[in-house]
Amino acid sequence: LESFIMFFNFFQERVENYSNVSIHLKNPENCSCQACGLHRHCKYSVHLSGKLYNTRTMETDDFMSHDKQVFTVGRICAERTRIYHKLKHFKFKLYQECCSIAKTEEVEDEQVKETVERIFSQSKDSGWIKENSSCDLRVKKHLVPI
Ligand SMILES: [Zn+2]
Repeated sequence: LESFIMFFNFFQERVENYSNVSIHLKNPENCSCQACGLHRHCKYSVHLSGKLYNTRTMETDDFMSHDKQVFTVGRICAERTRIYHKLKHFKFKLYQECCSIAKTEEVEDEQVKETVERIFSQSKDSGWIKENSSCDLRVKKHLVPI
């Protein structure tokens, strides 16, 4: 029993450390499941990849970013891995999504700033350009997906 727990803890730690998981069907073989160590009809391979990150600050660790691990597991462990990974990395996935949205907004703000500066410099020369540029700004804002 002790070796079973140790084996499972090792696998659990791997699942916690990799932010991406994909589970594939493979040629079935009777071997010990690499998640629980029990002899099983193993027909799934668990591929773990992605960057390490700090679970508190959500900062990614670029060290070992191209590392990938593959485990051959049974049906029950494949299902457990899928659910466990989803729960364990839910916060990080959400954080990444927020970051990508924030980045989009940042770009949009930059464009707006540039356009505003352009309007200011052009408005000195001609009233018509000013009107045209502010119209351009409105169109641009709608074109940027949020
Ligand atoms: Zn197993």
